Amino acid sequence: MLIYITMEDVETSVPAPDMPASVEKRTYLKLMVKAEPDIWWKGFLKKVFFVEILKGMSLTMSYMFKKPVTRQYPKEKRESRPGFRGMHALVRKPLTRRARCVGCGLCAAMCPSKCITIYTSEGKTHEKVVDRYEIEILRCLFCGLCVEACPFQAIVLTGHYEYADSSKESFRLTKEKLMDNWDKYMTDEKGKFYFKNFWAPRKSHFETPPDQAVFKGRQVR
Ligand code: SF4
Ligand code: SF4
Repeated sequence: MLIYITMEDVETSVPAPDMPASVEKRTYLKLMVKAEPDIWWKGFLKKVFFVEILKGMSLTMSYMFKKPVTRQYPKEKRESRPGFRGMHALVRKPLTRRARCVGCGLCAAMCPSKCITIYTSEGKTHEKVVDRYEIEILRCLFCGLCVEACPFQAIVLTGHYEYADSSKESFRLTKEKLMDNWDKYMTDEKGKFYFKNFWAPRKSHFETPPDQAVFKGRQVR
């Protein structure tokens, strides 16, 4: 049996009618379709001997002896990669232990979900004092724009991602909580590593770790 399909039909996946004589000039693909003889007994035997079920079982069994690709979270935790956008932290100055933030408000201005609120006042020597710095983390998109906008590298996104809680209050990050996050998740070398790798990441930082199982898909035979 011959079926004629125009190139347009191939693109739009519309079944082609038989070639009409009036449009002979157009480009056609010629497909030869061979009709299968009616072999009803093949299907019958497959049903009697559960061939499809056995095929499925053999595929399942073959995966029982392969390295699993699933992690048993929360027992097996994955180390977050450089540049991961987890919970925020306000950077502390190493000597004074005070926040590096000067309250310029650029992060709040850039935030697309408007979840950063900053309250400032004037200090004794006319400097700007950050009285309150709050992030409503439930509205945050973790886009990282606040980090990129900050001219003082005063706010970072840590690798911490486990902060499920039943109280809404715990998702309102105050200045104190944000500075505690710096102490908890970015101490010492981690903070330095963050700035070095986040601001100038290398290709090697994003490669798959050697101990990580990777699903390579089903092999085509
Ligand atoms: S990560 Fe994006 S959405 Fe979240 S506080 Fe920063 S700028 Fe706003
Ligand atoms: S975190 Fe950075 S951008 Fe935001 S107010 Fe503080 S200094 Fe300005």
